Amino acid sequence: MKTFCGRANPTTGSMEWLEEGEDYDYHQEIARSRYADMLHDKDRNVKYYQGIRAAVGRVKERGEKAIVLDIGTGTGLLSMMAASAGADFCYAIEVFKPMANAAVKIVEKNGFSDKIKVINKHSTEVTVGPDGDMQCRANILVTELFDTELIGEGALPTYEHAHKYLVQEGCESVPHRATVYVQLVESKRMWSWKKLFPVHVEAEDGEKILVPPSEMENCPGVPSVCDIQLNQMPSSDFTTLSDVVTMFSVDFSKPVQSASTNYRVQLEAVKCGKAQIVLSWWDIDMDPSGMINCTMAPYWVKPTSALQWRDHWMQCVYFLPNEEPVLQGEKLYLTACRDEYSVWYNLQKAREGENKADEEEHKADVHVESPVCRCRAHLLWNRPRFGELNDQNRTRQYIEALRKVLKTDSICLCISDGSLLPVLAHYLGAKQVWYFFFKTNHLEDKIKIIEARPELLKPSHLEDKKISVLVGEPFFTTSLLPWHNLYFWYARTAVSTHLASNVTVLPQSASLHMMIVEFQDLWRIRSPCGICEGFDVQTMDDMIKDSLNFRESKEAEPHPLWEYPCKSLSDPQEVLTFDFTKTVPQHCLSTEGSVKLLRKGKSHGAVLWMEYHLAADISVSTGLLQMSNEKGSCEWNPHCKQAVYFFSSVIESEILSLPTAVTYAINFDTKTGEIAMDFKL
Ligand code: SAH
Repeated sequence: MKTFCGRANPTTGSMEWLEEGEDYDYHQEIARSRYADMLHDKDRNVKYYQGIRAAVGRVKERGEKAIVLDIGTGTGLLSMMAASAGADFCYAIEVFKPMANAAVKIVEKNGFSDKIKVINKHSTEVTVGPDGDMQCRANILVTELFDTELIGEGALPTYEHAHKYLVQEGCESVPHRATVYVQLVESKRMWSWKKLFPVHVEAEDGEKILVPPSEMENCPGVPSVCDIQLNQMPSSDFTTLSDVVTMFSVDFSKPVQSASTNYRVQLEAVKCGKAQIVLSWWDIDMDPSGMINCTMAPYWVKPTSALQWRDHWMQCVYFLPNEEPVLQGEKLYLTACRDEYSVWYNLQKAREGENKADEEEHKADVHVESPVCRCRAHLLWNRPRFGELNDQNRTRQYIEALRKVLKTDSICLCISDGSLLPVLAHYLGAKQVWYFFFKTNHLEDKIKIIEARPELLKPSHLEDKKISVLVGEPFFTTSLLPWHNLYFWYARTAVSTHLASNVTVLPQSASLHMMIVEFQDLWRIRSPCGICEGFDVQTMDDMIKDSLNFRESKEAEPHPLWEYPCKSLSDPQEVLTFDFTKTVPQHCLSTEGSVKLLRKGKSHGAVLWMEYHLAADISVSTGLLQMSNEKGSCEWNPHCKQAVYFFSSVIESEILSLPTAVTYAINFDTKTGEIAMDFKL
């Protein structure tokens, strides 16, 4: 079967019809999946194995046969652990067909075909009985169905069903229980991911302040989880206002209810501050005693234990509906509301002399609806984008650049999604500002919105005026990779006939930069695992490799590198420039060269990012902000994702006696807007 998918090319903006075989989605799923990362998660694997051995042991001690149900078997790993631990039989359920096929192969290769039956079904479709998928109910339930929010992948309804239909009463369960922890914090940095802070602009006629409208101020935001590598958040970026407390736990060995519910805990503020954020993570106890514990606790909670790096489970940041000033010693109630798949939080203050009845009343007060954005800004701007718009340093650079190019008679056109530039340009004295798509409050007479695509722009849209200043950040919500924002160049080309002959374009140009790096941990997500806890999972490695090579040209992938530390092995290098004062050329832009490796380390890949040259001497980087020369540690723009091109083979330059270099060839196809890369080590 062939499917044609229509999509707008993120760089050129043109509509394209791509022929997608049914394999496409499946390869994407495998290539970008977290299976490799899970297999590299030693701490998780070791503890599952310990928990499984203990559970099989307890069942055997009771003189029973150990019948295991492994829901979401993936590679079959947990079933193979159970079989090795002496389980009599395992039913390994996997809904994703390519994975179920892989599990069959892996189980066979490891010699467990007689002990493990792989069933390619969703667990809720599995039947029990003499003619069923399972001969009888299981007495050991093993799963790994958790995401960073614990329940986001549907663990609760799956457990609920399994207890009703697939396992025996009083079964053993690995993990035995999960516990969710929370800590209340104040953090300007994290709060800036939800709220738009006022923007101050020094204009000719005094200071102007851009304030967000009240509906935005009071908006609860969006329900989607904000999961990050909290271990990369320096302690100077937040203040803890409470101790770590247990919010709720789930015992997986007993019937589980998935219906919506609330949990409430009392907290005491340990400091004065503004309660804004609830940080949350969970741990799982693999056995009833709690001796085998696998935790996602961040660095400041258990400073002594070594942290296991993992990307498939991180930590959650929840935004309270409003910030709440709290006093040291003040009693607070924190409520976690959840439905089947997600969690959200509310904070209330305990009233003076509160009694049990009041407490009950509080409980009734709690809003149970999940947050829904009413102001629409949270739909337009995702969290990193909020952070970017709140970055005062960045705004200052745009203001300075605008100030350089704007005159009182400037007729300005802005091309960027959900941008504040039109408002800034207006405040800074532009005579007229035109803007594609943005709804601004109370500035309708000054900032005109053009609801058309750039190539459909007509002189009448601009009241027959010519544009003297064309501005963009550039930023587009459709951009995934850094160079997708080159759409600005295509839009600029499309509106060429509307530009005055002496038009100023801001940014005047952009450049693509590149650096060779060694990742501290991110390399794991693309690195083969081979043997995992004694089981040969190479079939999975091969499958991931095939999927990565599915499209002939290997592609770069977006990652927010502030969350994934790396060491630079080369100097940053400018590889391509794009001149926005001219239209997009017909011919390709290509470059070849080599980068010298200056430091010892493993070359895992190349990082690429864009820099925008706003005006003379003012540039902004969406990638590298700073680099320390001796160690090569890097500071990355915290609001942007950078492009990472993983090398298929890693070179280890231990001795740098001979000059080592990486040669590259990079080609920007101006027709398709695609960048193809090739590296040789
Ligand atoms: N057990 C493996 C893989 C865990 S990933 C390991 O620990 O390494 C979770 C897997 O569960 C995914 O492959 C997903 O497709 C599958 N899955 C999730 N919910 C399921 C359900 N209800 N029934 C069957 N498979 C499920």
